[in-house]
Amino acid sequence: MPAQIIDGNALAAKIRAEVAQRAATLNARGRQPGLAVVLVGDDPASQVYVKHKIKDCEEAGLRSVLAKYDATLSEAELLARIDALNADPTIHGILVQMPLPKHIDPHKVIARIATSKDVDGYSVLSAGELMTGLPGFRPCTPYGCMKLIETTGVDLRGKRAVVIGRSNTVGKPMALLLLQANATVTICHSATSDIGHHTRQADVVVAAVGRRNVLTADMVKEGAIVIDVGMNRNEQGKLCGDVDYTGVAQRAGHITPVPGGVGPMTRAMLLVNTIEATERMSS
Ligand code: NAP
Repeated sequence: MPAQIIDGNALAAKIRAEVAQRAATLNARGRQPGLAVVLVGDDPASQVYVKHKIKDCEEAGLRSVLAKYDATLSEAELLARIDALNADPTIHGILVQMPLPKHIDPHKVIARIATSKDVDGYSVLSAGELMTGLPGFRPCTPYGCMKLIETTGVDLRGKRAVVIGRSNTVGKPMALLLLQANATVTICHSATSDIGHHTRQADVVVAAVGRRNVLTADMVKEGAIVIDVGMNRNEQGKLCGDVDYTGVAQRAGHITPVPGGVGPMTRAMLLVNTIEATERMSS
């Protein structure tokens, strides 16, 4: 039987509606949630991402501030701008759009964001909170993947999960969130000799690589939940994921499409984190 499609667009719309309600409550108390989006340089893809984030805020009743700077901005100047946003009581979340120009150290910049405003969840402190099970901001993409998995109704306790990819922003936090949900977790990466050996035993597979066909039907256990984080282009220039969707959808129990799976959830979870930041600062 073909897999059930996990509809990321529909879930994201539901989450955005909940965010809008929480924003309305905060607005009524004179605490409009505020997100600062920092963009340095004119990378075309970054400009599109930033535009989406600002539009999402507007539609959900959050205030957004675009702090846009020339690529020539120095690291010291950027750090000073971050300090000012940290001190601004009308800003509850700060997001620095990556990549930054080469002369700026992204680690230094992320470390400068106040942990209470780190709505991307990328800082070392936020990562430490996730690792130690403390409340804090979860990186938006893995946080969204967990929400997508939740919609299947499958309890992860005791289930085997495989994450392909070990980046600090997706793969590693994804593995930690699955672990927190009591799954038995394996992380595969570019040096893993036989990824299929691991994925064939997995009840949940999350592919976060950035390469087409990393996961094919012969690598998937019948009925597994398959979450495709990857964003690639096929020969026709069409957006596609890491998973061979057509084949895997014949074996998996649940699968996310690309587009319309993880992407909209990443955007929605940024709004959730910003609302949570505002609520914490307002309580
Ligand atoms: P990344 O930082 O480049 O990490 C990719 C990971 O994949 C690395 O850990 C790498 O292993 C591993 N890898 C590379 N080749 C592999 C192979 N042949 N087999 C197994 N593992 C391999 O990328 P990322 O930021 O995590 O993003 C991953 C993908 O998700 C990209 O396509 C990105 O565009 C997409 N993405 C989508 C969203 C969304 O909202 N939909 C959000 C974020 C990212 P090593 O560590 O060994 O090098």
